[in-house]
Amino acid sequence: MSGSRRRKLFLLIPIVVVVALGVVASLRYQGLLFPVRIGSGSMSESYLGPHRRIECKDCGFAFRCGLDVDVPLQRATCPNCGFDRIDVTLATLHEGDRVLIDRWAYVRNAPQRGDVVAFVDPTHQSELAVKRIMGLPNEAVTICHGELFIDGTLHRKSLAEAMELATLVYDDTCRPADERQLPPRWSSDQPESGWRAITNGHHWSTPRSEESAYDWLMYRHWRCYTSPHPRAEESPVTDNDSYNQGLSRELHEVSDLILSFDLRFEVASKIALLVHDGRESFTAVISTTKRSLELRRGEEVLTLATLPNLQRSSNVPLQFGVVDQQLLVAIAGATLVRYEYTPLDQPRQPTSRPFGIAGAEGEFSVKNVRVHRDIYYLNPFRGDWAWNSTGPLADESYLLLGDNAPLSNDSRHWKTPGLHRNLFVGKVLGPLR
Ligand SMILES: [Zn+2]
Repeated sequence: MSGSRRRKLFLLIPIVVVVALGVVASLRYQGLLFPVRIGSGSMSESYLGPHRRIECKDCGFAFRCGLDVDVPLQRATCPNCGFDRIDVTLATLHEGDRVLIDRWAYVRNAPQRGDVVAFVDPTHQSELAVKRIMGLPNEAVTICHGELFIDGTLHRKSLAEAMELATLVYDDTCRPADERQLPPRWSSDQPESGWRAITNGHHWSTPRSEESAYDWLMYRHWRCYTSPHPRAEESPVTDNDSYNQGLSRELHEVSDLILSFDLRFEVASKIALLVHDGRESFTAVISTTKRSLELRRGEEVLTLATLPNLQRSSNVPLQFGVVDQQLLVAIAGATLVRYEYTPLDQPRQPTSRPFGIAGAEGEFSVKNVRVHRDIYYLNPFRGDWAWNSTGPLADESYLLLGDNAPLSNDSRHWKTPGLHRNLFVGKVLGPLR
């Protein structure tokens, strides 16, 4: 937001509020609200700055490309299929998101971790900025290998918190048009597999000859960023962000990943899910007959959970993954398993095949299969080196980070990382898309 814009904003608050209350009351009335428009991409994809909306000509995947990177961009690369002949100049231009700022949110309640706040930027005091609270007063915060540590302990997000910050890295409902000439993203290595591709998904029924107890459909990740390599070349998931097209930087391999899909079983079925955390694999075995979910590390059963009552022939949303050294499973919108574990003491080697879905009994389909990656926090100076808040944050001071770490100017760059809550203007609500 420009200096003149902000001065206008503050001068006009009494008037704006009167007008805004009338305009926004029907949308969401919560305290004293006023609208502003986001001016940069530092909080994308939660809150978008000015951007272009692009649809891949090959797979149909829709994505946004911010205007923050100061290079004349002609072509973009699809983050879903790697198609790199997308003419950006033809894409539609859009203004930044409109959000509401609730100035009363913190009158009675203290700001919480995860809240997005508007505040007076300590580095450009004529401007308002918007960031997310990730450190609370008196906490010492460290960023290392993409993770956040609070007082030396890894900060473990809930599944809902992780999904709020996650980036979609593959949507199986958007498959390249020349799919027959490219290796499939989800496929089975078994010659007599019971898997077959269907519209927006995959169907499994018991194969004629059963070679093993589990018939695996494996996910293969492609690079999907501008590169001289073929787009179908397998690669571990990275912290690539398609919003930052044209930004040249070091990418980091990410093994905190979440798989989501809709499960539909026609008869009692047994399904297994596999995730690889960069060091080892874990499996979740779901039995609709026993109404059980068994989480395994190799042959060891880590935990057993009871499934909710699932209806046959209905689509049941399911999420499964590994985030912040914990295994997470959610079924029908509720987290069923949140299992914290200590990773193997060996170097991380993320694989290009981090997920599998297997059929063992019955008949079922999986639709709307998507792979998401967790947010990867960065040291602003040397990507993977540790950054810390140089001691605990002061009383009433908060550590503020942008969701789009490669673009964000935030606590990591300030002389004093903590920002006193007196400089908070309010809590950000929205966006109003
Ligand atoms: Zn594409």
